[in-house]
Amino acid sequence: MKRIAIDMPVVGECLVAECAYNTGNCCRARAITVGDGIHPGCDTFLDATPHSRARQGQAGVGACKVAACQYNDDYECMTDQIAVGHADNGVSCLTYRQRAAP
Ligand code: SF4
Ligand code: SF4
Repeated sequence: MKRIAIDMPVVGECLVAECAYNTGNCCRARAITVGDGIHPGCDTFLDATPHSRARQGQAGVGACKVAACQYNDDYECMTDQIAVGHADNGVSCLTYRQRAAP
């Protein structure tokens, strides 16, 4: 497997225990994608049996499509870390903050 090293925000905590990528309130995906353009949902959420192989390390935020968030620049998340959990009847980025009107 080829490997790349890239700076990105980390998923510091995820409280979605039913997601296949979650162990111990930590996201074990390599990276997640957030948002559908309006809602800051976790696009990578997978309601399935957990990963069969334990992986160490924290996930990064590979991309975020929520331009209305104050931490978003050019469809990328620019904060240091985010938290993910249940919100608005779904699985969302809890760090989302609505950008102030110009
Ligand atoms: S951040 Fe998303 S993909 Fe990762 S464990 Fe939480 S819900 Fe699953
Ligand atoms: S903090 Fe904002 S920009 Fe970063 S992932 Fe969450 S919604 Fe996207």
